[in-house]
Amino acid sequence: MSNASDTHRTNPLLDAPEDRPCLLLVDDQAINIQTMYQIFHNDHEVFMATSGTQALEFCQNKQPDLILLDVIMPDLDGYEVCRQLKQDPLTQDIPVIFVTAQDNPTDEEKGLDAGAVDFISKPVNPKVVRARVRTHLTLKRQSDLLRSLAFVDGLTGVANRRNFDETLASEWRRSLRSGQTLSLIILDIDFFKRYNDHYGHQAGDLCLRAVANALRKCINRSHDLVARYGGEEFVCILPETPLSGAETMAHEMELAVRQLGIAHARSDIADVVTISLGVASAPNPRDEGPEKLISTADNLLYAAKQAGRGQYKTGSVV
Ligand code: GH3
Ligand code: MG
Ligand code: MG
Repeated sequence: MSNASDTHRTNPLLDAPEDRPCLLLVDDQAINIQTMYQIFHNDHEVFMATSGTQALEFCQNKQPDLILLDVIMPDLDGYEVCRQLKQDPLTQDIPVIFVTAQDNPTDEEKGLDAGAVDFISKPVNPKVVRARVRTHLTLKRQSDLLRSLAFVDGLTGVANRRNFDETLASEWRRSLRSGQTLSLIILDIDFFKRYNDHYGHQAGDLCLRAVANALRKCINRSHDLVARYGGEEFVCILPETPLSGAETMAHEMELAVRQLGIAHARSDIADVVTISLGVASAPNPRDEGPEKLISTADNLLYAAKQAGRGQYKTGSVV
């Protein structure tokens, strides 16, 4: 599972969790790693590091589900590795279990203070270490799921409004720093009230899910985000994307929804469900925040509705 800042990119309801949990074993003695490897390799994906530095490097590239960490190591000791992991948002949610030859209460206290969830003494009892690891993996999976559910729209499985607000604020700050253009698309299903009235609310819900799915398939960069803005309105955040790129996306989204071919007998403009889109870019983001970008996209959406629906309008924030 991914970290909090990335949870909005994955969907726990749609992405099947990896069935083999990923463990990182950290110990400067090869023999200790070997012992642990024998205990876990059948039903876990096991990675190894023989120093604290190596362990920290590994976690920057791939975040294991749990770390079994030796305390005494020549370069960075286990306490320091744990402290550094806990300070970095990317790695702070990875549970750490200390495995150590010392078993006095002070050391245990020091380990827990550094942010470890548990403390196991060497030589390890395979049954005990397996049971503790299983418990902490279960807890980790549950808290990952809860955290990501708080960021996902229950009906459609795309990001929810809260996720959108937070992501837009952080992407705005990022574009201020980088000077890159941030683009935003707001889109709305056409004649959706009539769709509900004609086909029923349940069919309406299914339609919203299908539209959300089609939109999700259109985005291909990891920093792009599709969110449900409310009701039958969706938003798409496109970082580092000029207006021309955002326009291409809007064109593809309009087509993708139309090509779903969802019958809409009460639409004035087509016999299938269509969307209207407002596409706005902020080429020179300033300190005042993203509100102007939102209102510009919103006004352009309104203009697309006025111009006949089933189309997009584009513009830049001045
Ligand atoms: P326009 O083309 O101008 O956008 O017209 P519209 O009918 O789509 O827009 P309006 O804002 O008048 O109606 C939106 C409707 O969307 C109202 C409600 O019936 C429907 N709606 C909003 N949220 C949901 C939902 O969660 N499920 C379902 N089934 N319908 C919803
Ligand atoms: Mg609508
Ligand atoms: Mg609406």
